[in-house]
Amino acid sequence: MTEIDSDAPILVTGATGYIAGHIVKRLLEDGRTVHAAVRDLSNESRLAALKKLAADLPGTIRFFAGDLLQDGSYGPAMQDCQLVFHTASPCLLTSRNPQRDLVEPALFGTRNVLNQACRTGSVRRVVLTSSCAAIFGDNVDLKRSPREAFAEEDWNTTSSLKHQPYAWSKTLAEREAWCIANSQDRWDLISINPSAVVGPGISAQATSASFDGLEKFANGAMKSGMPHYEIGYVDVRDVAEAHIRAGFTPEAGGRYLICAVNSSFAETAAVLRTHFGDAWPFPQRVLPKWIVWLFGPLVDPALTRKLVWRNVGHRFAADHSRSVRELNLSYRPVEEAIVNHFRQIVDAGRLKPAAGR
Ligand code: NAP
Repeated sequence: MTEIDSDAPILVTGATGYIAGHIVKRLLEDGRTVHAAVRDLSNESRLAALKKLAADLPGTIRFFAGDLLQDGSYGPAMQDCQLVFHTASPCLLTSRNPQRDLVEPALFGTRNVLNQACRTGSVRRVVLTSSCAAIFGDNVDLKRSPREAFAEEDWNTTSSLKHQPYAWSKTLAEREAWCIANSQDRWDLISINPSAVVGPGISAQATSASFDGLEKFANGAMKSGMPHYEIGYVDVRDVAEAHIRAGFTPEAGGRYLICAVNSSFAETAAVLRTHFGDAWPFPQRVLPKWIVWLFGPLVDPALTRKLVWRNVGHRFAADHSRSVRELNLSYRPVEEAIVNHFRQIVDAGRLKPAAGR
């Protein structure tokens, strides 16, 4: 049972991030003091949305510098905090150097932040933003599971630096987090493992793959057709709420898989077409797997043949019952989140009007 005092500051690493923005918002709404750790304190445009939230809401924000790759850099930000939300980690669909761009910040960063928790006497709980990607690597992995749907008991055992490196980085980072947490008994660890997150950010100036993922439906990349790709979605506000409940529910513990619906690219495209008509080159038809296998990698280097083989046409299902039972989470339908997120992307000028037409 871990209780957090209402007047203790709360650290959020990677506060400029998409998911972190909504966690900070919830904390400020509750009147909390947030220690916002950001990579670059001088980047005013990255901080502007957080400063506006702090001006409008009851809580208080204090900014601190923190770099995942600089050992000890989270010390000042963590001082006096009882609760730490460790969200910072690159969320990229592609990288030419996944060891440098994904694995090192995810793994060293988790080590850096959690070792700092071991050195900071005030810390009682760390909530780690992990991912469904640490639960499974490819949709086909479900066939080897004894269950009908992916759940907290599952671990990704199929990703590597060469295949699904983002998922590999998240798996290494979460495994390291449990290892450090189990080496001591002053603070407890909870991991939040969301599926693909959708919904507008507190700002459109986001680096998250959630933006790139949605943009691919309208930038012409799939204008000739889309794969039969099943995917889980969750509203970013529900992901933030899951973090808050995990942080403040004394008896919470372990891993929480956070996913509202089991969906697909075809359903996403249908939602976008219904709300935005043919203003953008949304994909209309589902391509046979062999065509995606043959030509997909030429159109999108992220779509490797192995990725196509192990995901396209394979069933995805996630079981979120533990989050409902123990965090009392109720999930919003994601259609509204997808529509409002896409609108934010368009309004911010992230898509060129003639994209791919
Ligand atoms: P995001 O907007 O790109 O946020 C990533 C954050 O990490 C940014 O604040 C970024 O800071 C920070 N960061 C990256 N490298 C850093 C470094 N070397 N030092 C310090 N900070 C660094 O992505 P997001 O979607 O919110 O992702 C947040 C977390 O959720 C990640 O752990 C991600 O794996 C996880 N997640 C995301 C999804 C999803 O669908 N979006 C799903 C499951 C899990 P800068 O602003 O300085 O770049």
